Amino acid sequence: MNPLVLFDIDKTLIDRSECHHQAFIHAFKKIYRVDTSVEVINYHGKTDPQIMHEVLLAEGLTENDICPYKNDFLDSMSEYFVANVKYDKIKVMDGAVTLLKELENRKVLLGLLTGNIEIIAYFKLNHVDLGHYFKLGGFGSDSYYRSNLVLKAIQRAENDFRFVRNKNNVFVVGDTPLDVAAGLKAGILTIGVASGEYCKEELINSGANFVLDDLSSTDEFLKIVL
Ligand SMILES: [Mg+2]
Repeated sequence: MNPLVLFDIDKTLIDRSECHHQAFIHAFKKIYRVDTSVEVINYHGKTDPQIMHEVLLAEGLTENDICPYKNDFLDSMSEYFVANVKYDKIKVMDGAVTLLKELENRKVLLGLLTGNIEIIAYFKLNHVDLGHYFKLGGFGSDSYYRSNLVLKAIQRAENDFRFVRNKNNVFVVGDTPLDVAAGLKAGILTIGVASGEYCKEELINSGANFVLDDLSSTDEFLKIVL
């Protein structure tokens, strides 16, 4: 059985999306009337609903203020993103295209494991022509907690692609200790990439099974997953 490899998006496949940051700012203002941004918390590795929630708490809102408008917030953010992503300048990480092509050639089942809500994930990746590599995923729109996303993605692989999971044929690839923790909790293998805010040592200490500088060493990556 070919493996299932689940990729994080931000700081793993792409550098950053300014449009995604602006979409948060837009929705914070429109739905909650708060002038703020994701920068007020450490948002790396968190899901979009979790980022929204933590930022608003940091700004002094209460659960009662936040809860009734959560869905309106996500809708407003998506609307802004879909309308404006065409102006975004997104840099694809070194080696990502070569690696994805190679994995696709070798019939590896490719998925996403991202805190981005699904519509933003695909619009973002389609903007840089990467979306077509990914057949399924677990998204921020599936759950507040990243670890639940892993099981969601595996379930979709089993249901839609007759994927049969064993102890060592599912991998999660990501740039933060939260990506690693989500993989460990779900009992799959984890590949940390030090292309974001965290260095190799921090990723090793968080329990990653494998750690790479980035995605540019195709051979090294293939050796791990095949
Ligand atoms: Mg990331």
